[in-house]
Amino acid sequence: MNGTIMRAQSGFFWVKLDETGETLRCTLRGRLKKTKQYSDLATLGDFVRITPTIPNEGVVEEIYPRRSKLARTAIKGAHFEQVIVANLDIVLITFAVAHPEPHVRMIDRFLVIAEANNLDVAIIANKCDLVSDSHQKVFGIYEQIGYPVFYTSVSTGQGIEQVQEIIHNKISAFTGPSGVGKSSLLNAIQPGLNLRTGDVSDAVNKGQHTTVAGELVPLHAGGFVADTPGIRELGLYQMEPDELEWCFREFRPFIDECGFSDCTHTHEPECAVLAAVEAGQISSARHQSYQKLRDHTAEQSASQRF
Ligand code: GDP
Ligand code: ZN
Repeated sequence: MNGTIMRAQSGFFWVKLDETGETLRCTLRGRLKKTKQYSDLATLGDFVRITPTIPNEGVVEEIYPRRSKLARTAIKGAHFEQVIVANLDIVLITFAVAHPEPHVRMIDRFLVIAEANNLDVAIIANKCDLVSDSHQKVFGIYEQIGYPVFYTSVSTGQGIEQVQEIIHNKISAFTGPSGVGKSSLLNAIQPGLNLRTGDVSDAVNKGQHTTVAGELVPLHAGGFVADTPGIRELGLYQMEPDELEWCFREFRPFIDECGFSDCTHTHEPECAVLAAVEAGQISSARHQSYQKLRDHTAEQSASQRF
């Protein structure tokens, strides 16, 4: 029997069966547990094959290949890839136009994770009632490089329908710093849709995979919103510095034009990315944020090697 993991907690997986719609509490078949790679473990959103055992319970026999995943990106070969949700269709990166003030560098941290996972992404600029010109400079940068930006306000109802449309019949996840209005937004999308806000990220960071609870919450209109503490704390990640250039999507057309194939786009004389920044084709705020994140990932990856 096939089904989807709707909830994961303390080594148990609640699997909703395709055929009957009933939910069985399952454990993993032993050999699935012995895997050395976290990425191979079952997770929220996984499509699985199960065998029923006693009433209302079963065993996960097989995890089908994922069409996408949201993971804390890992250093190659380190055998650590914490998959947070499998088979995600879209990530909504949520910020506020004010209170708290949006920062390019913070938005980019979230975007880099989505890009590294090759996920479809949209940006929500909430609290538009607080500023007169909602087409803020900061979010305009992202519209220009091709990210869909939705301007919303929970107070006036602006843009809520658009957000409902974009998550319709999909598995979506909302992420962003606290205080930007994620809970309010979800409640506006569907009254009563209150996702967890607690910070349980310490357990995640220590790799205590099975203690982390997560749930796919059904939308009445069709689709699911992933509720996991991991998503709320996605600001943390590990990545190879060389992978970062690809995660800044507007850099991509220039990367191959650089004088050196291993160009870091930070100081090289024949760098096409730097030339594009100079010419105003790439936002200098984005490039600065690239440089800062590059320094950060370089430090992290050095410290992980020893
Ligand atoms: P979360 O931490 O991202 O889940 O943010 P919350 O949903 O808890 O919202 C944080 C604060 O911002 C609360 O006081 C909300 O009432 C307020 N808030 C949320 N959305 C809006 C909005 O669109 N406009 C205004 N003015 N305030 C909002
Ligand atoms: Zn370059």
